Order: sequence, then structure tokens, then C-alpha cells
Amino acid sequence: MKFDNNTIKSLNTEFSNKTPQEILEWCIKELNHNIALATSFQAQGMVLIDMLMKIDNNARIFTVDTGRLNQQTYDVLDVVRSKYNNKIKVLFPDRNEVEDMVKEHGMNLFYKGVENRLMCCQIRKTNPLNNHLKTLDGWITSIRREQTATRAEAGKFELDTIHDNILKVNPIVDWSEKMVWDYINTNKVPYNKLHDIGYPSIGCEPCTRAVEKGGDPRSGRWWWEAGSAKECGIHFDHNSN
Ligand code: SF4
Repeated sequence: MKFDNNTIKSLNTEFSNKTPQEILEWCIKELNHNIALATSFQAQGMVLIDMLMKIDNNARIFTVDTGRLNQQTYDVLDVVRSKYNNKIKVLFPDRNEVEDMVKEHGMNLFYKGVENRLMCCQIRKTNPLNNHLKTLDGWITSIRREQTATRAEAGKFELDTIHDNILKVNPIVDWSEKMVWDYINTNKVPYNKLHDIGYPSIGCEPCTRAVEKGGDPRSGRWWWEAGSAKECGIHFDHNSN
């Protein structure tokens, strides 16, 4: 299935006042299950998992296991598997690429400069994701505009030019953090326990830390970097900037 800018424009007009659930229903119906929800099991991702599973618990969900995640993330993954009876697809990085990278640069190369960090994100996260997206007509994400400057212009429907012009759907792009947590609490949705100890945003264990109350939610990601886009390359093309 091919998408173009005109289709995206009319979808955004048609769904501008529709709920995330209506957007998800449209995705499942129109893309005939050849669309999947990508998640790293952060709070906003849990909202979409719950909504999607209430519509169709056979809908496709995938995640990337970089090999460097927190135990709490693996815990919530298994909770989701059993609560919604969904066999979540877990993508892994290419073993040879990881071995070559670690042999050349060490286990903790990301602390030695942005270039090394981006290489690690590319090999451990972005490459497995890119390979998987080649098999899909579209993907659903839980990005929100208020998260970062690089997401401020994101639409509910986008032409994913990084991934061969497949459809990228961001049903809660206009939600606030409060709306996310209201949904989680009202619907008793499980969540990553790191959120309870000061982690507003959760990535890999060595690259994420807690944030002071009221601090920039993304400041705990790659906290040692100054001036870099706090993105791994999944939602942002570092080469285009
Ligand atoms: Fe590597 Fe850190 Fe990126 Fe995870 S977040 S893939 S450990 S650089």
C-alpha cells in the first residue's frame, strides 16, 4: 500500500477531531493488520497498548530489545504479554554488528562521544527497527509533540520518509503528560515501575537516569551530552540535520 502527501493531508483533516481509539480502529481496518504498534513500554506507549488491545488483541505490537534495557522494562513487557494475551514481537540487533562494534569500541562506547552513541543506537535500535518496517505498510507510535523540539510539528498521520514512505500514525501526538497518566490511572493500565522513581522517559539502562521533579523530561536521556538532539534515530534522521 502506497501513501502520498495528499492522502496524509486528507487523513489529518478527517481525523483532526477524532479520538485515538477511532484512529486505531481505522488503522486496523484499512491496513488489514499490516500495521504494527512500536513500543518501548513507556507511559504513553502503555496508553496505546491498552487502547489497541481493547479494539483487537490480535493487533501487532513490537519492541526492540537493545540488550541494554532495564529489568523493569522486561518486567512490564511480560505483564503486557499476559494481561492482553498478545505475543509481542521482540526485535534484536544483528549479533555480528554488535560484536564488531564492541570489539572495536568497548561495551560503554556511548559515553565517549555523540558519534559513538549514535553508532550504538543505530546498531542496537535503529537497524532492527528499519529492517522490520520494510515488512509493514505502516506503524503506530506514541510520540507526543510536547516531548521534544524535534517532535513539535508531528502530525497524527505522517508520510514516513525515513522508512520508504510507509504510513506513520501518532494517535496521541496532541496529548499532554497529564492526559497520559489520567488514562493510565482511570483504566488501571500497567506501567514501567521506573516511572515511580523519577524516570519520566525510559531508554536503555546505561543511558537513562532519573530527573529532578519539574525538570525537562528528556534530560535524563544521554544526560552527559550537551547540545545534541535527544533522539536515537527512530523518530528523527540525524543525517538530515
Ligand atoms: Fe546504545 Fe545507549 Fe542507544 Fe541504548 S540508548 S542503543 S545503550 S547508545
